[in-house]
Parts: sequence; structure tokens; C-alpha cells
Amino acid sequence: MSQKVVLILIAVLMLSACVGTQSILVEDQPLKGINITIDPGHGATQAYDSFRIGQTGEREEWINLRVAKILSRKLTLAGANVLMTRTKDRDVSLGGRASMAKLHNSDLFVSIHHNGSTNDLSMDFPIVYFHGSGDMNPASVDFANILIDSMRAEMDFQQQQAGAVYSDHLIYSSGTSVLRNTIDDMPGVIGEGGFFTNPSGEGRLKSKDYNKLEAEIYYKAILEYFDRGTPSATCLLPDSLKYIDLTRPIEFELDDGFGNTFFIENSFKVFQDGVKIQSSWDSNSGVLTAIPDSSLERTVSFQVFARNLQGNAIHPVPFKFLTKTGWDWLSHEKWFEAFDEAESLYAQAIQGDELESVTSVLHLYKLSLELQMVHPKAKIAEEKILELLQKKQTLVEVDLSEEIEAQQSRLKDYYPN
Ligand SMILES: [Zn+2]
Repeated sequence: MSQKVVLILIAVLMLSACVGTQSILVEDQPLKGINITIDPGHGATQAYDSFRIGQTGEREEWINLRVAKILSRKLTLAGANVLMTRTKDRDVSLGGRASMAKLHNSDLFVSIHHNGSTNDLSMDFPIVYFHGSGDMNPASVDFANILIDSMRAEMDFQQQQAGAVYSDHLIYSSGTSVLRNTIDDMPGVIGEGGFFTNPSGEGRLKSKDYNKLEAEIYYKAILEYFDRGTPSATCLLPDSLKYIDLTRPIEFELDDGFGNTFFIENSFKVFQDGVKIQSSWDSNSGVLTAIPDSSLERTVSFQVFARNLQGNAIHPVPFKFLTKTGWDWLSHEKWFEAFDEAESLYAQAIQGDELESVTSVLHLYKLSLELQMVHPKAKIAEEKILELLQKKQTLVEVDLSEEIEAQQSRLKDYYPN
């Protein structure tokens, strides 16, 4: 063979090798274009937290991080855009974790935890939490069910049949901060892959191989969830709308997650401010038409529910609108007046020592926030509210720390920048 022919042959071989590799890469990226936030629970609590620790000293936050890191690598290789809320043993606020997930435009939020019990060391089973009521949060429940089934099938628990998918209202009456503050934007769960307080559970969770197995279970659950398609609804209203006319039908265009309109019959529902309203589905056009109820509220919100043929539900992101009442109120400038009046009285209130003037300026700022979503200076109002609450604390004997903390996390959650 002449040298020239050999060179050409090598070139052809290299080219075909490249093409081959490329096609493998494309096929192996089932999560391409999907944004996922992985949240390893807790972090850097060693100095003060003596609860989240096993008998031989393994800390929950370390296990969470190891599993999350392996999972994150797998997801990235599968083409997903992965955001980790922490990659080291460090503390990140709960509000900060939710804000990061929202800024990442996540299609799914997965918080990785492990459980502990102070009174029953025999406990060893999985739990997956979703936020609020299952009926109102069906997509999160869909994912939670896939996840817990594979945890049960493939991980080692001493109580294989115990544990379940639960609402996070069973942990706190208002649910967990990370799930509550992400639910308007994405489905999400908190996974608890066993108990570190159980001696054999801790033994397993310390093992890197077992961490790999757990990460693989999350990975497969995520693949299966997205493989079923993520159906969605779009509200068909002109962008120029000043307020919504509640005397007219409202239309939503549905996609089953595959660019089609195949949904389970009778799975369609529309809720207005948490109450079911009348709706009808046209499979030819893929449009769900709802008849709104009249409302005296200044804003109104709609949520759309339906389930595709693969069994995945739409995540019912709320569509929020100004009503005629809200528009009238806005256009009469009461809202701007409240803000301007608050601004003009602020300096005097914060420098003085009069409880009455602090309280009345606080009230005006809060009033100005009633239509927060269209308030151009909402952040300023929120900051002034915090300062006035702190001022008020110096003037009254009652403990306002809870209110102050709530305001601090509001600022963090709603105005991350
Ligand atoms: Zn935890």
C-alpha cells in the first residue's frame, strides 16, 4: 500500500470514529435541555448540631453531599443543566436555596436528605416529601412515587415496607421552606434515603458504594420522570392585557410533553384561587377553555391540571392576573399615594421615638405592597418595612423577632439580587 493510500485510510477511519462518537453522545443525552437543581440538605452545622449525626459520628450533611455530587455528575453526563445549591460542607440559607433553583429556571428540584430519630433507633425506611396537598401538587407526587418505588426495590432497609410519600405539612404546619418557596415554579421533593441513627443504616450510608447506589436510584427516577414527558399549559391571553375580564372564558393551550395533545380523559381541571371552576377540553385544538367566577379580589390566579398518557401530570404553575377591581384601584393611584406618603414620613419615623408614627408608616408601606407584582419600588418598600420593624422592636416590649425574621427571609426569597 502506498503511503498516500494509508494516510487516506487513516483519515477515513478517524472521521468515522468521530461520527460514531458523536452519534453515541447524542443518544446518551436523554436529559438535554432540562434544568435540574440538586440540593444537598444542611451543611457546616458541626459546631452546633448534635442531632444530625449517627452513633459512629457520620453526619447527615456529609452523606447528602456525597450522594448529590455523584448524582450531579451522572445528570450532567446525560445532558442536563445541573445546579447544586452547595458543593462543599458549607451553610446555605433555605431562602437562598429556593432562590437559586428559581433563577436556574429548574424543571425539577430535588433535595437530598437522610433521616434521624432520637427515640427509635430501629427506624430504617425511606420517605419522600412533597409540598402541601397532593391534589394541588400532582407532578411532585408523580416524581415522589417513582423515586420511593425504586428506593424500596433497590436499597437495603430493615423496614422495607414502612415509609411512604408524605406531604411536608407533616413536618411543619406550613411545610418546608425549600419546597414552599419553589412550588410556584417547579415540581420538587425532599428525599430521605434511610436513617443515619440506625446503626446498620449509618454503616451503609458511610459506604461510598452505597452512596453510588443511592445516586443511581435518584438518577434512574429522574430519567423515568422526564421520559414520561412533562406536560404543560400556556395561557392564551394577549400580552397587552391591562386586567382580566372575568365575564369571558379563559383559554389554555396544552402540550403533553411531546408536542402533542394526548391526555387522559377526564383528567382536566382548572382552579381559580384554589377553587375548581367549569372547564371543557377540545382535543382537536388542544385548548382547555374555562369559565371564570366573578371576583372582588384585586388579583386572581388560575391553575391548570391534566395528566398525559404516560401518567405525568402538569405542574400547576399559577397564572396571576390583575382584576378590574385591582386595575381600578391601581389607576386611582391609591397604591402610589400610599408609597409616596410612606416615603415622605419615613425619615421622621425612623429617627424619632414615636411608636404611633412608626406603626402608621409601616402600614402605608405594607399597603403599597398589596399589588406587589406590579410595584416598581417593591424592594424599597420591603427594606423599609424591615428597618421599621427593627425600630419598632426598640420601642415595644413584645418580642417581634419572628416578624423580623420573616421579613428578612421575604427579602432574600423574593429579591435575590
Ligand atoms: Zn435533613
